[in-house]
Amino acid sequence: MKYSYVSHLYCPKCSSTYSTKDQQQLCTCGSPLLVAYDMEGIKKNLTPDHLKDRKPDLWRYHELLPVEDESNVVSLGEGMTPLVHLPRLGDAMSLENLYIKDEGLVPTGSFKARGAAVGVSKAKELGVEALAMPTNGNAGAAWALYAARAGIRSTIVMPEDAPEITRNEVAISGADLYLVNGLISDAGKIVGSAVKDQELYDVSTLKEPYRIEGKKTMGLEIAEQFGFNMPDVILYPTGGGVGLIGIHKALKELRTLGWVKGDLPRLVAVQASGCAPIVKAWEAGERESEFWHDSETKAFGINVPKALGDFLVLDALYETDGCAIAIDDTEMLREQKHVANLEGNFVCPEGAAAFAAARRLRENGWIAEDEKVVVLNTGAGIKYPDTVDIDPIMLEKGDVLPK
Ligand SMILES: *Cc1c(COP(=O)(O)O)cnc(C)c1O
Ligand SMILES: [Zn+2]
Repeated sequence: MKYSYVSHLYCPKCSSTYSTKDQQQLCTCGSPLLVAYDMEGIKKNLTPDHLKDRKPDLWRYHELLPVEDESNVVSLGEGMTPLVHLPRLGDAMSLENLYIKDEGLVPTGSFKARGAAVGVSKAKELGVEALAMPTNGNAGAAWALYAARAGIRSTIVMPEDAPEITRNEVAISGADLYLVNGLISDAGKIVGSAVKDQELYDVSTLKEPYRIEGKKTMGLEIAEQFGFNMPDVILYPTGGGVGLIGIHKALKELRTLGWVKGDLPRLVAVQASGCAPIVKAWEAGERESEFWHDSETKAFGINVPKALGDFLVLDALYETDGCAIAIDDTEMLREQKHVANLEGNFVCPEGAAAFAAARRLRENGWIAEDEKVVVLNTGAGIKYPDTVDIDPIMLEKGDVLPK
């Protein structure tokens, strides 16, 4: 039996196809490329029962992943994160079946590890020796650390005000780290010219085809953890949108395999009010978004003014009868407190935005009380210590506690 049933790459815009045996970036038409599999082959050889004895990490789905030779797998044990029912927060929102898919527990502290694990593994399989990327922090941290494990050199460019911890993660991996006085789009321009001049593989969001495949495993896991029944709604904090595109792709693949049936969950793209290009496009019924000027939010992972895969995100929303919604930073940080107070989970601000969105969509009736709702917490709150303002009482030695 084959380790991977990967067959080829295809362009969702112009339908050109490419080989997975060579290093690829974008389609010649400028669109990101997607990975196709021999679904008939998988159908014949794999059933959900086969998964039962496999390790609890994302490589349990290796037939549906692009790495062909298992010896190229670069793993830190990522995947199979908890899917946990939240009764107290659910009660406060009048949502009986509210769940968190908690990505705060993966290596490097964010779900970016999934994309990095699969992306770096495939890069290794294709003989990449050095890679480069612009990042808002978490992706750079994940890719630099996974590249270190693979013995691949990396060059990472990030905005000066990206979360400091992610800088340290990049630096300690031995990567070449650069800060830029600007946004991720400015970092992107710098990386864009560097990859042309130097022998660097460009692993910017969606400029290589395999990161989506890693992030797709969130969708595979959600389905498996519900016994291959689908939830009604999945809310996802959306920056570049790779996670949402991935979850959509995963669920469609499972439907093709006949492992899940019926309608796909309604997918919700949650953005910050200070950077909401997808929301604006969705509200106008557009198929692509426009560059969002002067973007600003504390949820750094979703500060993406224009995503290369915006049309794929919007397609996923339209196809699943989903929606897009913006949450402001005050509401986001208030919700972050609620989640910690009621459920003991210190979620990241991006995840908190998705919880606030669930609350709002329940209030306006878009989500019904008994629907099964999954919120993606995309990272660990402890990566963002500055989002919490505290003022504890200072004691002197020998003081007694105030009543
Ligand atoms: C990158 C990131 C996001 C956005 O993910 P996309 O898949 O690019 O939309 C959300 N949350 C966190 C914590 C991130 O690091
Ligand atoms: Zn194309």
